[in-house]
Amino acid sequence: MEKEVVSKNFIEQIIDKDISEGHCNVVCTRFPPEPNGYLHVGHAKSILLNYGLAKKYGGKFHLRFDDTNPTKEKTEFVQSIIKDVEWLGAQYDGEVLFASNYFQQMYEAAVKLIKKGKAFVCDLSADEIREYRGTLKEPGKNSPYRDRSVEENLDLFERMKNGEFPDGSKVLRAKIDMASSNINMRDPVIYRVARMTHHNTGDQWCIYPMYDFAHPIEDAIEGITHSICTLEFEDHRPLYDWVVRELEYENPPKQIEFAKLYLTNVITGKRYIKRLVEEGIVDGWDDPRLVSIAALRRRGFTPESIKMFMELVGVSKSNSSVDYAMLEYCIREDLKLKKSRMMAVLDPVKLIIDNYPEDKVEYMEVSNNQENEALGVRTVPFCRELYIDRDDFMEEPPKKYFRLYPGNEVRLMNAYFVKCTDYVKDENGKVTEIHCTYDPETRSGSGFTGRKVKGTIHWVAAPFAVPATVRLYENLVDESKGVYNEDGSLNLNPNSLTVLDNCYLESNFKDAKGGDSFQFVRQGYFCVDTKDTTPDRLVFNRIVSLKSSYKPN
Ligand code: ATP
Ligand code: MG
Repeated sequence: MEKEVVSKNFIEQIIDKDISEGHCNVVCTRFPPEPNGYLHVGHAKSILLNYGLAKKYGGKFHLRFDDTNPTKEKTEFVQSIIKDVEWLGAQYDGEVLFASNYFQQMYEAAVKLIKKGKAFVCDLSADEIREYRGTLKEPGKNSPYRDRSVEENLDLFERMKNGEFPDGSKVLRAKIDMASSNINMRDPVIYRVARMTHHNTGDQWCIYPMYDFAHPIEDAIEGITHSICTLEFEDHRPLYDWVVRELEYENPPKQIEFAKLYLTNVITGKRYIKRLVEEGIVDGWDDPRLVSIAALRRRGFTPESIKMFMELVGVSKSNSSVDYAMLEYCIREDLKLKKSRMMAVLDPVKLIIDNYPEDKVEYMEVSNNQENEALGVRTVPFCRELYIDRDDFMEEPPKKYFRLYPGNEVRLMNAYFVKCTDYVKDENGKVTEIHCTYDPETRSGSGFTGRKVKGTIHWVAAPFAVPATVRLYENLVDESKGVYNEDGSLNLNPNSLTVLDNCYLESNFKDAKGGDSFQFVRQGYFCVDTKDTTPDRLVFNRIVSLKSSYKPN
């Protein structure tokens, strides 16, 4: 028997080692978003990675808002982030947590450092601090305030807290090493004076901790064992370790970095998405062309497809970029057996069966999904006047065109063979009607074996058709030119959105509601838009077309 080889990623290997060496009892991870925007597919990677590890090791997973920088934070973002995390199925333990609830403990931690002689109040301006910091090649210089006494530092820090000093006039700095080869260790600022109203604590504080000081404390307070973050924090790890060591936490958390997820030719940066939203180029943060989690959900992606994608991508230590086609592959795979395959005509032209009785209607029994019988069957009405897609007919077909053209016979999916006898054009030369005759012997399922046809086309019975709007999407940016121009502006694709306003769907769509998704046979997967659909009109978003060049290896 073959043994299943389960390869572990590098983070799992670290955790295994920590457990076997007795450093870690219950694994505890967290997702720590800053509530300053909507989450995107990159955050989904971090969420599913952290949640997945906690689950795998029977541990805990926290959702904690890293809300220590009040200027850009909004309650709207808090709500949207909670919704997205829950939608992805990442169940957090306990309540939603807020770093701002630890401000008192962070203050006390700073006092502890001062008492140990490991922090000092500095009066240099921001510019001076930068000057004193040195460069990658040259060491920094000590601040003239570095040797203040513990008593003076305690007094000044308390007065900073009490609002005695103007914004920006004083900071608290860790006393580490101005000659360190790591610039982050050159007496970094850990507290600043700033009068900002906070979304959670209001005006209670006029001093706020800096990220590099706050984050390790948040992790330690919550008993996080493995603090997983992205590569840009690698150079900050010595400071993280310094903070938890100097504060003498008993079981200090360990920071581990992994590479961010990038999608080739896809805009993920909050800054750029924000601009697209503000300039009205997209219809909000959940415009289906974006890859915010809200946008992916609105477009019709499922949590399962996003999980599958993250598993295919894997976790690594080196930055790389993944093709969007891989995400499309995952949603196709996920929907393939789950969704009914229905008939929808996006660019309709009338097809009239001249030898079919005018008032007759037949109800065809159709399997909902030929690859999954569990989805059952439905009935589809068939009658004399139908709609078919315009590109399933040609007046003068090229070779190898097997669909409808004068004199040719095709199968109407789930119904009969029809033969094109004639067509009508308007004054602009546009085909307005196609005429045909049907052969009653050829009904689908009747076992007819008399002759074969090469083409099968879908259709919708005109009197029963449900009208709808269907939106087709292409990439927001023009891939041939790269995402960004030299001046930093975006290369937008003018065809990223096509709205088809005159579509006809089979009658079974009449009860579809926002969020439902279907396969439109021969075309792709489509989802009923939750925002723009009204009781009178269905609006569909194309999730993905049926065809792809992508194959997983
Ligand atoms: P952005 O740069 O897009 O604005 P951010 O890093 O500022 O994102 P945070 O709210 O600080 O957003 O991130 C929350 C968590 O998500 C962090 O742990 C961060 O490392 C992680 N994260 C952010 N972007 C990605 C990404 N592209 N791939 C994987 N993880 C990410
Ligand atoms: Mg950030």
